[in-house]
Amino acid sequence: MASKSVVIAALDAMEILDSRGRPTVQVTVRLADGTVAVAGVPSGASTGSREAAERRDGDAGRYGGLGVLGAVAAVRGEIADRLTDREWPDLASVDAAMIALDGTPDKSCLGANAIVGVSMACARAFAHADGRSVWDWLTPAGVAPRLPVPHFNVVNGGVHAPNPLDFQEFMIAPLGAPSYPEAVRAGAEVYASLRGLLAAKGHATGLGDEGGFAPQIAEPEQVLDLLVTAIADAGYVAGRAGVAIALDPAASEFRAEDGSYRVAGQTLSSADMIERYAQITDRFPVWLIEDGLAENDWESWAELTLRLGERVTLVGDDIFVTNPAIIADAIARGVGNAALIKVNQIGTVTETLTAIATCREGGYAQLVSHRSGETTDTFIADLAVSSGCGMLKTGAPARGERVAKYNRLLEIAAARPGMPYGLYAS
Ligand code: PGA
Ligand code: ZN
Repeated sequence: MASKSVVIAALDAMEILDSRGRPTVQVTVRLADGTVAVAGVPSGASTGSREAAERRDGDAGRYGGLGVLGAVAAVRGEIADRLTDREWPDLASVDAAMIALDGTPDKSCLGANAIVGVSMACARAFAHADGRSVWDWLTPAGVAPRLPVPHFNVVNGGVHAPNPLDFQEFMIAPLGAPSYPEAVRAGAEVYASLRGLLAAKGHATGLGDEGGFAPQIAEPEQVLDLLVTAIADAGYVAGRAGVAIALDPAASEFRAEDGSYRVAGQTLSSADMIERYAQITDRFPVWLIEDGLAENDWESWAELTLRLGERVTLVGDDIFVTNPAIIADAIARGVGNAALIKVNQIGTVTETLTAIATCREGGYAQLVSHRSGETTDTFIADLAVSSGCGMLKTGAPARGERVAKYNRLLEIAAARPGMPYGLYAS
């Protein structure tokens, strides 16, 4: 990632819409050498409580209070004043300057949506100024870039869809595909076969926020049955040798005040949830579970890891929030064995790279991720390649803001025929 130092000549921002029709920030940076780069900021709906804080205007008369004119003004004002017409040796110094200028632990003063937009735009500009692809420029010394296994979210529930399904995401992961393009093909073919299967069974085929189907089904096991059938109908083997299944229940969203979990009308303890996941992974080819338990249920998370961690990838999202310190704590306590990586959850590209490095050094896998509210920005596709982690989730193999990332990876695959595809094997 070494690069020559750069001078930021101008920084601009504007309010645009995300894929849910909500306002978000778009940042444009221009370097003194003429390089121009743009970044679009994503936004989550099922957010962890310790995430970096988005700045929203709160003016109920505009976009129901969700406007981002304050964040836009921060980029054009304080941040531009601090960053422009100066020479920067690297991205880390730019990010550190913004963190210092903000002065809060959660970036709530300037707004994490302002800071992360500048950070992503600068990363892209610095790479291009160096004459390199973003993935190439981001790749740390000693790390081999890889094309990631795409985790296509094909059934949406939870806060991402108006259906009774408590589990938020049901993904298909072509672990056994021979190449990235063949993985994309498998994902799209299974998605099409699932649409046909749902229609044949009389289910609606409307979509949730991440482009997966949102049938009126409550029981997770019923969805898993449909997925196994759809995989077979499309001509693939259901399992690690072909197309495996991954879940993001996003359990913080259905944990009640009293600490119990509410799934399909049942009230379950943490121990019941662990038992349920054990049964699910015995019965179905589920290879990965993200946020199986809530962000404040650390002891049960450790028990889940003891019980299933040898054979299932257990990813922390809301519980770790891409925060290097929290991930280090989790590694020390044996909580999970992988971390979700979302740039806007921590708020700068530099801290995201630190989170990835913390995982790598601690033996934790990484799953690079989009947010439910997205733009057509493809930064995370390059980030996934550069991390060498071998896993990305960015929604269904449908809808422009989702396929923009998958298509960016097809471009990288075409440009670099020798780049390996698949999970990182240590
Ligand atoms: P979010 O959901 O972007 O709405 O937070 C994604 C996830 O939980 O992984
Ligand atoms: Zn999640």
